Amino acid sequence: MKIAVLCGGVGGGRFLRGVRAHVRDAYPDGSGGSTASITAIVNTSDDIWLTGLRIAPDLDSIMYTLAGENDEVRGWGRIGESERVSAELREYGVGWPWFTLGDLDLGTHITRSHYLRSGLTLAEATDRITARWDLGVRLLPATNDEVEMHVVVEGGTSMHFQEWWTRHRAVLPVRSFVQQNVASASPAPGVLDALASADVILLAPSNPVVSIGTVLSIPGVRESVAAASAPVVGVSPIIGGSVVCGMADACLTAIGVETSASAVAAHYGARASGGLLNAWLVGEEDAALAPAISAGGIRASVVPLWMRDVPTSAALAAAALAAAR
Ligand code: GDP
Ligand code: CA
Repeated sequence: MKIAVLCGGVGGGRFLRGVRAHVRDAYPDGSGGSTASITAIVNTSDDIWLTGLRIAPDLDSIMYTLAGENDEVRGWGRIGESERVSAELREYGVGWPWFTLGDLDLGTHITRSHYLRSGLTLAEATDRITARWDLGVRLLPATNDEVEMHVVVEGGTSMHFQEWWTRHRAVLPVRSFVQQNVASASPAPGVLDALASADVILLAPSNPVVSIGTVLSIPGVRESVAAASAPVVGVSPIIGGSVVCGMADACLTAIGVETSASAVAAHYGARASGGLLNAWLVGEEDAALAPAISAGGIRASVVPLWMRDVPTSAALAAAALAAAR
């Protein structure tokens, strides 16, 4: 059983932890592992060079979550890390004072930057970095190319997505999202194979615009999802008209999509009419939307969508695989 998952950081990490737990139960290999393989195709448009280091927030959030090393209280970085190095950088006036990176997390960024400067690709660096832990999921960056997302705000100023999101809390009105170099980017080795050979393709409950949207915009990815022989099942990141956490509603509003489970489904589109989705999971809060989504050609299932812990995330993953059948 081959499962390919398109994803961003926090929603992606929580969902993958559930997929891994479910397949270890449903496809046991007898030694605590699984006969199913999970490949995560991860957004890299939040990545940035900062203080000489390459930061890849979504790859790292997922890695820490699957390793059980993520700090759930702060919502980013590693459990039990201090911020002494970031405090020193602030004293020197280097980097972004509003963007604090913990010391253990900085160890990851130094390692990644070392590999990249030695000539490895991001995918090769990611393989080496993730080998440290038994993640049970292969993490593939969507692309090895630098395709950072910039945001052009009202007035015409352009800034890195990270500055708009973290410093300005996504409140500056958006004129456009511009993904740098995307037209000349190519999928990382393994990405198109993972899609073509998958038995099921899942769209994680991640930000539809700046996580899943940017993965799909790498030339060849959207086409490969659409052409895959596997069914494509999406999980709504919107529950009862709200984004659960973060500010993804600001991204949806900026591209003219309503913050609702049905509008996001329509944005991805029905496979039968040239879109991506065979099936779409919506929350019990959105049960009333299901008939219209199904009438539009996307089979809607109503299931609990809250990933509170591993069991609830695993139940959601089981529902996504069931919806594929
Ligand atoms: P980011 O890269 O860290 O912004 O994370 P993602 O793009 O993977 O996902 C962020 C989105 O995950 C949020 O906007 C939420 O809509 C969604 N999300 C987070 N927790 C849950 C949950 O428990 N259930 C569902 N359905 N969605 C969630
Ligand atoms: Ca992200």
